[in-house]
Amino acid sequence: MKASTPGWALVNSYLKLPEQFYSRQEPTPVKSPKLIICNKQAAAELGLEFNYLTSAEGVAILSGNIKPPNAAPIAQAYAGHQFGYFTMLGDGRALLLGEQLKPSGERVDIQLKGSGRTPYSRGGDGRAALGPMLREYIISEAMHALNIPTTRSLAVVATGEPVYRETTLKGAVLTRLAKSHIRVGTFEFAAYMLSVNELKKLADYTISRHFPDLLTDNRPYLALLREAVNRQALLISKWQLAGFIHGVMNTDNMSICGETIDYGPCAFMDEYDPKTVFSSIDTYGRYAYNNQPKIAQWNLARFAETLLPLIDNDAKTAKGYAQAELSRFSGIFNEYWLRGMRLKLGLANEEAGDKALVELLLELMQKYRADYTNTFLSLTFGTIEEINKMADFEEWYMQWQSRLRRQNTTEASCRELMKQNNPALIPRNHIVEEALIKAEAGDISYMKGFLKALRTPYAHLEMQAEYTLPAPKTDMAYKTFCGT
Ligand code: AMP
Ligand code: MG
Repeated sequence: MKASTPGWALVNSYLKLPEQFYSRQEPTPVKSPKLIICNKQAAAELGLEFNYLTSAEGVAILSGNIKPPNAAPIAQAYAGHQFGYFTMLGDGRALLLGEQLKPSGERVDIQLKGSGRTPYSRGGDGRAALGPMLREYIISEAMHALNIPTTRSLAVVATGEPVYRETTLKGAVLTRLAKSHIRVGTFEFAAYMLSVNELKKLADYTISRHFPDLLTDNRPYLALLREAVNRQALLISKWQLAGFIHGVMNTDNMSICGETIDYGPCAFMDEYDPKTVFSSIDTYGRYAYNNQPKIAQWNLARFAETLLPLIDNDAKTAKGYAQAELSRFSGIFNEYWLRGMRLKLGLANEEAGDKALVELLLELMQKYRADYTNTFLSLTFGTIEEINKMADFEEWYMQWQSRLRRQNTTEASCRELMKQNNPALIPRNHIVEEALIKAEAGDISYMKGFLKALRTPYAHLEMQAEYTLPAPKTDMAYKTFCGT
């Protein structure tokens, strides 16, 4: 029998950037690492042996106590606009171990989050608490299963050490996987703290890592902006279609390659209300559900500003080009969004009145505070709990039905289309909370069952039903917290 090999294949291309872009930093060892959860599927995709990762050596690596072969841990430097204000940031509690070359040939950042202080920690302790790391694990894996581009979670290890927040909590380290951790804020750091020479190196690195096809473009930096616009438009359309609210869309939390990153105060919407905000610190609703497309465009404008000196030597010409790319965002977003909505309603072709049909449905849902996910499920399966709540729903329903009859599809194929585009379940806030409370108390089994159900949201299995009910109504709005 062939001996098992752990499968590490780390490289460190980020180290080739000028040294201002990172600080070499060893993880701070933890007292008694204990594996809470490890992602078998993600491990396999990385070419890592699950049995090895969950062994004492694997867990020591996942906690930062020992390093895998070829790891060269760094904290990455970045800046960012937080709630509109520019600040110097950087990985204050995370370290990039290296880039794993997957058997498929792709390159994935392996990052420990909660691994101790770094030169960018400011007043922070460099640590993370178990609850929020498990929350990131659940929601990022749910997003992945929903076909929404996202960073992923490989494992969560409890450190056996306390972390001090408002109360004393259990410490933990999350292993995060990302196509890269290059953010809009990384470009802001280069543009405003370094020189154009370093900025160009970052842009060239980003292009060769994520958009190699652009290397031969006549204006590669403009093309980079164009690609970022395309990817964000697609990403945000997917958030809107799933009812996902990121909660803290600061420019340091926007990945250039278009993955959802930084699961702090995010949450999924229950009742449809475009103004929904969950984050306790988002007093003015800057990052509310219906603002997400606008904010993405605002962030992309900050990205565009950093690229101006590379786009053209003449500032005015550069600005004109950049503006033209930015102005494409709304059109692309709206197209993706309408395409997604058509699929959610089982519409296989296009008609001019489709947008109005969708908007009328959303208006009704808002008026009757209907559950977003379950309304689409009711339409999919012809069940009526959700839609019955809406007294003037009948008229819309007739319009929808006659629209469906005008397309040449069978009822079965229409339902199939809807099943593929309307998830049976989302990580509902009250169920996520229940899973976290149990896991923090030492019982991970409920969370594992929930994760299993979340893994195939479009399969519509019986075992998923127990996770589909909205929370019982209370007067207390659900709140989420950052900086945990
Ligand atoms: P976030 O809200 O997670 O996007 O973090 C914003 C910034 O604060 C980033 O630079 C983080 O690295 C940093 N940060 C968050 N929590 C801590 C902590 N406990 N210790 C040090 N830095 C932190
Ligand atoms: Mg962040």
